[in-house]
Amino acid sequence: MTAEPYVPDTKDLDELRQGARACHGCDLYKDAIQTVFGEGPPDARVVMVGEQPGDIEDRRGEPFVGPAGKVLDRAITESGLDRSATYVTNAVKHFKHRPAAPGKRRIHQTPDRVEIMACRPWLLAEFAQVAPRVVIALGATAAQALLGPSFRVTRQRGELLPWPESAYHAEDFAQPGGSARILATLHPSAILRSDDRDTAYKGLVADLAVAAQALAG
Ligand code: SF4
Repeated sequence: MTAEPYVPDTKDLDELRQGARACHGCDLYKDAIQTVFGEGPPDARVVMVGEQPGDIEDRRGEPFVGPAGKVLDRAITESGLDRSATYVTNAVKHFKHRPAAPGKRRIHQTPDRVEIMACRPWLLAEFAQVAPRVVIALGATAAQALLGPSFRVTRQRGELLPWPESAYHAEDFAQPGGSARILATLHPSAILRSDDRDTAYKGLVADLAVAAQALAG
């Protein structure tokens, strides 16, 4: 399973987005309403990568437009990052879920390694076009998709790490000022699930501020 044959040979983000609408690179397209591709300026300095679209994102066709997206927007602004210069996307572009009773919200299921790897060509193509200075992995799925299955967000969150060349070709999106770096933090939906939301939210803002300071330096 791979999205590779569906990824068009183009340098245009909109053409990539169009191509992703027809992706059958794994089985997740079958139960989702639509592909949810990344959104943001094509010259964004920061790319944020979540896990997968949620129920609301699947219905609207846009990433991070549900409650977690609102938390993320606020945290980005409070951290000193520029929301308007941030591209947001997900490691997996279709919503994986369990069916729900009519009228109920569908229940999220974590994508497995095969699905994450199948969808990775889209993420690579987005990185190659946007050429970010910093990539921020939101949560364990995104972090493990980018940094490998042994990476633990709980142990290394908020650390600005060199780009893992073994995972991706850094030269695809090297910037004049140096190659992209990567930082992992919590997924904003984890803030909403936390027993201590205030502390969890402050931790997210502090992690994002590390990226903001690196970009300012
Ligand atoms: S999840 Fe990714 S690889 Fe799977 S069908 Fe959707 S876009 Fe293609």
